Amino acid sequence: MSIWGKVIRAVVVSVGVTVAAMALMSRLPGLDIPLPYWVLGVALPLLLSGPIAWSLARQAERIAQLNAELSDAYVRMKALAETDQLTGLANRAAFLAAAEHCRALRGGRILIVDLDHFKSINDSHGHAVGDHVLRGIAQTLLRCAGPDDLVGRFGGEEFALFLPGVDDEVAAARADAIRAGIEQVTIFDGNGGTIHITASIGVSGPHSASLPDALQAADMAMYRAKRAGRNRVRMAA
Ligand code: GH3
Ligand code: MG
Ligand code: MG
Repeated sequence: MSIWGKVIRAVVVSVGVTVAAMALMSRLPGLDIPLPYWVLGVALPLLLSGPIAWSLARQAERIAQLNAELSDAYVRMKALAETDQLTGLANRAAFLAAAEHCRALRGGRILIVDLDHFKSINDSHGHAVGDHVLRGIAQTLLRCAGPDDLVGRFGGEEFALFLPGVDDEVAAARADAIRAGIEQVTIFDGNGGTIHITASIGVSGPHSASLPDALQAADMAMYRAKRAGRNRVRMAA
């Protein structure tokens, strides 16, 4: 209802109630209400209820507008708090919360993806190009991930995926597709040169009792991949 609708309703109700009360009273024996009182009975509620209803309706409208702005701000703050600003992927906390939920519902495997010798890209091309590579790898992970998979950036040059409901075989195949996908990426360094990078991937196994256990197992497997020469996948022992 518009503000004017609310004001008219308030005026009609207050005048109507006042006049009805006066009409009832005027029926009492010996209570004959003179005309000036009738005029006052209409004029006073009219003059009072109009501005009051207008002011209340304006306040209600402003409160509704502030509530809407607050909800919008909450949605934007939540998205900011859950998103890695460089890559647009879920950040560590958001990824872990989502993975915990998925794991409880369907089980699955965690993949820890750590880029190989990433520091040398920063060292030879600069930090901005390193950032560009991280964004490119994030896009590659999203492209290689299945529709239900969760993808997050754990920090630095380390990413994680959660593959809901998969077994070792599917997880190993997906991890190797991701490894191969990263290997095939060509990133332009902005100076006419190209950059290629590889990743070492660790995959959690079926025996982890909790998400932190699964993370640790995947992490250990990833370090085994590093020690074995990098650019490879290792499954949890
Ligand atoms: P390894 O194969 O053993 O993993 O070697 P690495 O060089 O990838 O690993 P290391 O831990 O030695 O170096 C990681 C580097 O990642 C160091 C750090 O400067 C860089 N780094 C971390 N966060 C960012 C970022 O947001 N942007 C850029 N450009 N570099 C980052
Ligand atoms: Mg690394
Ligand atoms: Mg690392």
